[in-house]
Formats: sequence, C-alpha cells, structure tokens
Amino acid sequence: MKRALDAAGSSLTSFFHSIRFRLTLWFVLILAVVLAVFSVYIYLSQARDLQFDAAARMRDKFVHVQDYLQRAQWDPADLSAGTVPGSTEPLQKGDVLILADITGSVLQQWGQQISASDPMWKALPDIGSQHPDGSIFEHRASVIGQNEQPVPTDYLFVMTPVVRGGQLLGFLVLGSKSDLAVQSRRLTVSLAVGSLAMLAMAFLGGLWLADRAMRPVSQIALAAREISEGDLDRRIHLRGRDELARLAQTFDDMIGRLQAALNRQRRFTADASHELRTPLTIINLEAGRALSSRRTSEEYRRALEIVEAEGGRMARLVNDLMTLARMDMGEAILKLEELDLGEVAREAVERLQPLAAERSVKLGAGDLDSLCIRGDRQYLLQMASNLLENGIKYAGSGQSVRIEVRHEDGRALVRVSDTGPGIPVEHLPLLFDRFYRVDAARSQNGVDPTSPSGSGLGLSIVAWIVKVHGGTIHVDSKINAGTTVEVTFPLLEVPQSRS
Ligand code: ADP
Repeated sequence: MKRALDAAGSSLTSFFHSIRFRLTLWFVLILAVVLAVFSVYIYLSQARDLQFDAAARMRDKFVHVQDYLQRAQWDPADLSAGTVPGSTEPLQKGDVLILADITGSVLQQWGQQISASDPMWKALPDIGSQHPDGSIFEHRASVIGQNEQPVPTDYLFVMTPVVRGGQLLGFLVLGSKSDLAVQSRRLTVSLAVGSLAMLAMAFLGGLWLADRAMRPVSQIALAAREISEGDLDRRIHLRGRDELARLAQTFDDMIGRLQAALNRQRRFTADASHELRTPLTIINLEAGRALSSRRTSEEYRRALEIVEAEGGRMARLVNDLMTLARMDMGEAILKLEELDLGEVAREAVERLQPLAAERSVKLGAGDLDSLCIRGDRQYLLQMASNLLENGIKYAGSGQSVRIEVRHEDGRALVRVSDTGPGIPVEHLPLLFDRFYRVDAARSQNGVDPTSPSGSGLGLSIVAWIVKVHGGTIHVDSKINAGTTVEVTFPLLEVPQSRS
C-alpha cells in the first residue's frame, strides 16, 4: 500500500514538473487573464446598459404618473393632503408616490408604504439640491411588509422639485422596485461560471495538445535510455519534418558517428594487440627453441638475429602508434619553417640508400628542384622516407625506386615511383586506413628478416603529415608495372621558370 502511494506520489511529482503540465498551466493562466479582462468589460458595459434602460423606464413611468395627476387636476404645489386624488391608478404593484416638503417630511404616500424612519427622507433635501431637475437614484428602502415590519428592498427613485413662484416647496418622488442588483448578480455568476468552464476545458484541451506535442520527446528519451554502449545499432527513426524530427535525425546521426568511432577504436585496439602479439610470439618461440638443447653458434646467431629483427619491428610499431596517438590527441606539435623540399628528398634518399643496397634495389633521384614550402622538416622527412621505404620493401630485388621534386601547376610536387608488383586497384581507396595491408602474408614475414615487413601504419602517418601541411596525396598503381605516389604542397614562392 505504502509502495503504491509512493509510486503515485512520484508520478504526480514528475507530472507537475513535466513540460506539458507547465505549458498547459501557462496557457491556462494567460487565458484566465484574458477572460478576466473580457468579463470585467462585459460586466461594466452590461451593467451600464441595464442602468440606462431602468432609468429610461422610470422616467417614462414618472411622465405617465405626472400626466395622470395633471388630468386629475391635482396640483402638488398645494401641498395639501385634501386635494390628493384617492386613486393609485397609474401606479403598479410595489410602486410608491411620495410628496415631501423641503425638510424631507413626508406629507403624503400612495401605493407601497415606506417606513417613516427610512433615512432617505432626511437625505431628500440633499439629493434634491444635488439633482435639482429630478434625476434618478437607487436606494435600499425599508418597505412596510404585511406584518407592519420594515423589509429592506431595492428601489429606484425618480424625483422632481415642487416649485411655485420660483420658490422650492417640496419634492414629488416616484419609487419602483429595482431588480438591477439581482440582474448584476446573475450576470456576475454567469460570467464566472462560463469563465471557469472555459478554463477547465482549456486545461484539459491544453494537456491533450501538450501531450501530443511532447510524445516524440518521450520517444527520443526512451530510445536514448535504451541505447547503451553495446547497442549503438538502435536509432530513433522519428518521422516528420518538424523540429523534433530534425532533433531526432541529428541524434541518429550523432549515434551513427559514435558507432563508427567506437568501431574504429575497437578495430584499432584489436589490430594493435594483434600486431604486437606476432613478434612477441616469434621472440618467445626462437628463445625457447635456442634454449631447449645445445645449438651451434651459427644457430644461436640466427636466433638472435630473428629476436633483434622482431624487437626492431616492435619498436617501430610502438613508435608509429605513439605518433598516431599524438596526432589523434592533437598533441603533435609542428615546428613550421621555410624549407627546401628538394633538400628534404635528397636527405631521405641518403638515409635509405643502405636499406636499398641491402635489398638490392636501385634507389635513385630524378629532378630535385629547390622548392620553398612552409613545413616541419622532421615530419616531411618521415613522409618521404615512408614512401621510399615502401617502394624499397615491396618492389623486390632488382627493381628500382625513384623520387623527384618538381614545380607543377603552382604547387610543389613530390613523386615517388617504383617498378614493383603494384597494388590491385580495389585496394587503393583503403591504403591510408590504419593497419591496412594489401597482402598481410606478403608484407609481414617476421621469420625472414630480409622480407618486407610492415604494420600498415606507414601510409596513414603519411596521409596525416600531408593533411596538416595543406597538401594532397594520390596513389596510382598498375599490376606488375609499379606504383607511383604523388604528393603536392602549396608553394611559398613560385620559382623562376628555367630558361
Ligand atoms: P606498411 O607499414 O605495411 O608498409 P603502409 O601503410 O605503408 O604499411 O602500406 C600499406 C600497404 O600498402 C602495405 O602493406 C603494402 O601492402 C601496400 N603498399 C604500400 N606501398 C606499396 C608499394 N610501393 N608497392 C606495393 N605495395 C605497396
């Protein structure tokens, strides 16, 4: 029971805090203000009209009564009770006709009797002086009821001064029961009940509307809750073209990007551990084999060479991984300077001559123009070295690798080409992906330290270096004819054309 109460309490709290409730509340509040202003306006104008009509009716009645008195040849200026017509013919039920002198003492009353102690009589001279031409006033008079008791009743009075020879002698007052207060009360009740009913309907309608409008938000929230790290396949797929559908689409796109990033990261981790495991396994195997029984010094030497090669491979791999990690985190700091790209290419060739000689590859340089660009010498040297090393590694013995630096179409062009086996065209778009190798078996043969070995990170590092220098890279390859990699950079100054 307590739990049910708690649950009801918390769902009520969340309802009161919900946007749909607050939206509805604001909507109802605004409507309430509008209705209040409208009701006050209606009340005032209606009340004025009612008063106006009642006053007009009173005046008509007074004229009628005065006509009658005139026809009966009764002159109120006589102030004599003896000449008063005995009939109350022109008066209707509840009406009263009073003749009072200037002190407010009642001389004569016809029709309904009003208590002699009513304060109105005392006030008559004042009222008369304020409204000399017989205007209308409202008063709650003490009417003498059936058992001679005064009953307060709303009356409307019209009065006219009685004058003879320019002298005020008294007042002739006609009173008639007034239902103005009742009508005003009825109007107030109608307006209040109508307004409350409208507010209630607006509240329910507003809740329904807000609920409809907010339903996609609940859908988005539910989907977001269901999407966990392991379930990034889930999408909201909200239909429509409104703001919420656009929000859901943005959300779906974001999840898509997150999923791609997570997949990349997973693949990267798996690839990196796989790459490190292979040389470690080889080192373990070789060491175990060398230690298992007595070997010749030639065999020990061979085992140590393999261990050294694999150790070198691991060191290179860890180096590459660190470079990539620094790049990803934006921590790779470029030491930008004006440099000669031809000179950088020459340095790279010198650096790789020993490797080329070891692999019996002819490494040569074409035109190495002196082209001035702005860049980081170390990174550009690494780029040229990676490209030349790939050529040397994959071309095979007896083949040739060549580098040239030229000015082309207003940019500095570095072209590295080889006469090696080439790369199948379907692999070209993927070459710059991390750990991507065209033929893993061909490019990684750790048992033979002289065979090409690589981890598939070289070209992704090259691509990053080219990108941060504002350059472009393009690979062209033909099977059994060779591979050409072209990199261009913006020039700092356009060189004079050679004559
Ligand atoms: P790796 O460290 O394996 O050399 P790269 O990213 O430099 O990695 O190269 C990716 C793959 O592209 C290599 O594994 C290789 O199969 C292929 N490749 C790169 N350069 C050449 C080339 N000049 N000739 C043939 N294949 C190449």
